[in-house]
Amino acid sequence: MVDSTNPETIALHAGWRADPTTGSVAVPIHQTTSFQFQDTGHAARLFGLAEMGNIYTRIMNPTVDVLEKRVTALEGGVAGLALGSGQAATTFCVLNLCEAGDNIVSSTDLYGGTWNLFANTLKSFGVEVRFVDPADPQNFVNATDDRTRCWYAETLPNPKLRVFPIAEVAALGRKIGVPLIMDNTAAPVLCKPLALGAAVVMHSTTKWIGGHGTSIGGVVVDGGNFDWEANAARFPTLNKPDASYHGAVWTQAVKPLGPIAYIIRMRVILLRDLGAPMAPMNAFLTLQGLETLPLRMERHCANAIKVASFLASHPAVASVTHPSLMTGEAKRRADAALKGGYGSLMGFELKAGAEAGKKFIEALKMFYHVANIGDARSLAIHPATTTHSQLNAEEQAASGVSPGYVRLSIGIEHIDDILADLSQALDAAA
Ligand code: PLP
Repeated sequence: MVDSTNPETIALHAGWRADPTTGSVAVPIHQTTSFQFQDTGHAARLFGLAEMGNIYTRIMNPTVDVLEKRVTALEGGVAGLALGSGQAATTFCVLNLCEAGDNIVSSTDLYGGTWNLFANTLKSFGVEVRFVDPADPQNFVNATDDRTRCWYAETLPNPKLRVFPIAEVAALGRKIGVPLIMDNTAAPVLCKPLALGAAVVMHSTTKWIGGHGTSIGGVVVDGGNFDWEANAARFPTLNKPDASYHGAVWTQAVKPLGPIAYIIRMRVILLRDLGAPMAPMNAFLTLQGLETLPLRMERHCANAIKVASFLASHPAVASVTHPSLMTGEAKRRADAALKGGYGSLMGFELKAGAEAGKKFIEALKMFYHVANIGDARSLAIHPATTTHSQLNAEEQAASGVSPGYVRLSIGIEHIDDILADLSQALDAAA
């Protein structure tokens, strides 16, 4: 096994060397539901968690395992869990700590799907989400009470693209014993939330990690850096006997295996009971993408800086949103959390308003008009009528979506072709 802290090497080598029986270098696709036990004792030990091993693909799978290990290594965590989508990953992150009557505090700057999950679906489960403006980290403390189980935020949330003050908020949380969970989907490689103090990090691997628009998926990584026992009353799911596992107390039961109570409980309880595993084929495709992630991020970011400055100086454009163009506190936060680039998402408003924005999108020839981000190809969308359309006007405004905002996800094509397509579409919209 290659031991490295460099993302370029981790992306190619972490979690896998070669198949011990066949010598296969590529990670095999273990397209199987179940795994043969050696004998009844082996089966009992696996079910009793006395020994780790494969039982059933809803709960673990060797192909998926390599992806979990690789994303965990990339993020500097101790163990990971892959799920069928980023949405499932977010849902599991919260439900792993919350029961009906509990609450979490979340940044207002969120992906529209996460907003819906938090504002409506979790509410219907009896879990309250308290939204606070991340402009002031103290807002998280002010919204916290004894039933607050975690804080939640995105590193580089679109559409505002205001980088979250991870270190400041994580430090405040640690003072009062509340873990910070970060959605790092838009900033893989660029940001290491765990090193900045977050306790848990998740990704929609559908985006940059997969990178090729083939597979929906999510991964949760446990930082192993949060003491769930120090404030045991705040975390009953990890510190009280679990009736569904013969009274196991997760913080105690897994101690010999390391600081992995959070992620083990997510696997053996939530994944067991709610389902939503990642399919082995999707794990394989996501691993293929991950192998070139650091290289792609370099090109994504370099292209994005050039597009941002092109748009900022274009006469038809009223404003451009990209961290590279920000000033003051927003820029300071971007520079504190991101290393090696400002990401490849950006937004802009046309002077001629929402109608011109729609014309612009329809005139694009190379950019795809899709509800995705982080693909190797360049993508564009009008959030107010698509990704954020299920939010009411007030919620749209709170999450930074104005009627004329166009979102771009800059790909890794040649910069001349990207600029040429944008230029002709801006002319067509004029
Ligand atoms: N988090 C962020 C930042 C996203 O952009 C998305 C999807 O767009 C998700 C989570 C949800 O991921 P998925 O679409 O894989 O369920």
